[in-house]
Amino acid sequence: MRPILWAFAYLCVICLPLALSWLADMPPRSIRNELASGLGLLAFAIILVEFVLSGRFRTISNTLGLDITIRFHQLMGRIALTFALLHPFLYRYLPGPERPWDSTRQLSVTSDFWALLPGIAAFVLLPAFVLASIHKDALGYRYERWRLLHGVGAAVIAVLLLVHAQTAGRYSGQPMLVWTWRGMTALALFALFYVYVLKPMYQLRHRWRVSRVERLTPRQWDVRIVPEGHRGADYQAGQFVWLNIGHSPFSLYENPFSISSAPSDDPEMGFVIKELGDFTGALDQVAVGDRAYIDSAYGTLTIEGRSEPEVVLIAGGVGIAPMLGILRKMALDDDARIATLIYGNRTSEKIVFRDELDQYDRTGRAKVVHVLSEPPDDWTGKTGYIDAALLDCVVPLATYKTGLFVLCGPPIMLTTVERALMERGVSADRILMERFQYD
Ligand SMILES: Cc1cc2nc3c(=O)[nH]c(=O)nc-3n(C[C@H](O)[C@H](O)[C@H](O)COP(=O)(O)OP(=O)(O)OC[C@H]3O[C@@H](n4cnc5c(N)ncnc54)[C@H](O)[C@@H]3O)c2cc1C
Repeated sequence: MRPILWAFAYLCVICLPLALSWLADMPPRSIRNELASGLGLLAFAIILVEFVLSGRFRTISNTLGLDITIRFHQLMGRIALTFALLHPFLYRYLPGPERPWDSTRQLSVTSDFWALLPGIAAFVLLPAFVLASIHKDALGYRYERWRLLHGVGAAVIAVLLLVHAQTAGRYSGQPMLVWTWRGMTALALFALFYVYVLKPMYQLRHRWRVSRVERLTPRQWDVRIVPEGHRGADYQAGQFVWLNIGHSPFSLYENPFSISSAPSDDPEMGFVIKELGDFTGALDQVAVGDRAYIDSAYGTLTIEGRSEPEVVLIAGGVGIAPMLGILRKMALDDDARIATLIYGNRTSEKIVFRDELDQYDRTGRAKVVHVLSEPPDDWTGKTGYIDAALLDCVVPLATYKTGLFVLCGPPIMLTTVERALMERGVSADRILMERFQYD
């Protein structure tokens, strides 16, 4: 489905409770109270849809791209929080006892403490939850622990909001909305169940084994896995998987890594992994034969199905991993498209698979341009960073008009190169990008 249809579907879903409230045709109240209810309804609906915007649903993240999906998830989380915080303060309360003649609660807002309590609890938890997500790195939690807290916290908040909506809500107490909220909450919780229970169950029956683990440079590794008793996974060159080595598939110990191999008859899957933290820093303890599990394949950094006659791959550091997959696939298919690889590193020791890349260059498979920011004295290649000036040196003017640009690397490189490409007239749909990190 195209992104525009997703956007439309998203708007329909988050506005559904509002629409049903309107259709309930209840006596009108002051604009302030209607606004307060509306914001509450919207906040709850947005929070429930957040469960499927976690990046773990391929239909969504492979259409929008993981980066956009996660950023949208983060943005909507903040918007829902704002609406939820405004919601109770906008109400104009009519003091005094319950009015038996006001059965539609046109004049009053519930003041029953027990009906409000779940809402108060969610009201306190939600900001804490969003702030903890924004500052997760500063909190110093292991990534896996943060994921567990995020999942459990989201489920608790959703259930509290459901109870609050049904006990205290004017519109949410209507039968149509009661069932809509129950259905939406059940789907949201099922999304968690799918990711953390059903997927691992599938992985348990589709195991992989480490077939190679070798240091390529002081901090980069070549890791490969082979399927055990099944035919492997379908993927497109440039995509990524969630990889778990040595832990139970139910354990949350999984990290995203781009596939550096190309889909072919050989089901072995390869990765280039840079040491960074807990898992990647312990690759020296991984051995051939270790059990592995993957959740695959994700990502939109792929040139399959694209019709541009030229492909410019721009990689910084370990951003080379998906580019290797793409180049290998082009070599396997004898792809007629003209390929250029611009590969930036700090020093020449950090270049991985140099012989293979040089071979592509020699045979005309791809023009390979190495760029070093700290070159040795005898370096004859390009120096500095991959920026606008370097692009102009390497990329022919005509390529800006017709080429497909594929970017992967440090955030600063992505921002600089993307801006330079846009300034040179490259349309957004001809720039594919993947960030290895999101804040
Ligand atoms: C789509 C994608 C593709 C990637 N491909 C590669 C690749 O081919 N090669 C490579 O070396 N690295 C790749 N990465 C980065 C890689 O996932 C992280 O370096 C790795 O997860 C760090 O794990 P750790 O346990 O060693 O570090 P930790 O100690 O857990 O964390 C260090 C930092 O890494 C980030 N991080 C950790 N786990 C995750 C996670 N599950 N998702 C997102 N960020 C995380 C967090 O910002 C964290 O602060 C990719 C990331 C993404 C999002």
